Amino acid sequence: MSTSTIQKTSPERTAEISESLAKIRARVASASSDRPQTLVAVSKYKPSADILVCYQNGQRDFGENYVQELVDKAKELPEDIQWHFIGTLQSNKAKLLASIPNLHTVQTVSSEKAASALNKALSAERTAPLNILIQVNTSGEDAKSGLAPLTSASIFSDSNSSDIQKLAEHVVSNCPRLRLQGLMTIGALDLSLSANEMENNADFEKLKETRDVLQRWLQTEFGSQEGQGKRWGDESIGKLLLSMGMSSDFEAALKAGSDIVRVGTDIFGSRKTKDEMSNQ
Ligand SMILES: *Cc1c(COP(=O)(O)O)cnc(C)c1O
Repeated sequence: MSTSTIQKTSPERTAEISESLAKIRARVASASSDRPQTLVAVSKYKPSADILVCYQNGQRDFGENYVQELVDKAKELPEDIQWHFIGTLQSNKAKLLASIPNLHTVQTVSSEKAASALNKALSAERTAPLNILIQVNTSGEDAKSGLAPLTSASIFSDSNSSDIQKLAEHVVSNCPRLRLQGLMTIGALDLSLSANEMENNADFEKLKETRDVLQRWLQTEFGSQEGQGKRWGDESIGKLLLSMGMSSDFEAALKAGSDIVRVGTDIFGSRKTKDEMSNQ
């Protein structure tokens, strides 16, 4: 790895990104009281030079949506970056994705096929398991990927396991190179809520309930996970984490109990659309 191939940003751009990042960090800190939280800087479509500015300001967690773009950036950026894959995951891209040594978390797993493909492709040389989050489609929109949320009523009464339970069980039982770290949702912005009410977003509530229910079930099924060989829950706190909240609603998400927020636009500025990118 050599960052010397990366073009430098102008002093103005450097100042602009540094300032936005500092502001977002302050807002994250004040919205999350004293709980630990992770700010993932979402850098899709943004050049490596922009990422390097954040890195030089101490940022280590970055999120990308496209496998090839992530592979290319990971090659030229520092090895202690913790990459989060947050795009739609196709099983046939899992192998390429898993080849990135500093891939830290795949936030968008929603099939056993994808989990198995990641597990199989991961190098035995990796010392830490790859964190995965199960993507939940809390808003029920067709355009969004993810599995249906759980309710307390749905899980213990029903003898048929839900898709989320099946996937969780598959990861914990059959994918030793993965750790089921938590749940992720994109959700919908609820525009009927005022800024003060935004933490009551129904999608946040659904993800929390899903987490609570799944966590209880995992505890019953596999026992609590202490020490080495832990297969689910965050490495340090042993609980399932929640990834919810983006530029428009990350403070509300943190107040609602999110552990991981994914912020792009508010750090790097607006992005070109996918069509504009491919026409370049
Ligand atoms: C692009 C993206 C983000 C960042 O969105 P912003 O509104 O730019 O903060 C967060 N999460 C996912 C899954 C994304 O695709």
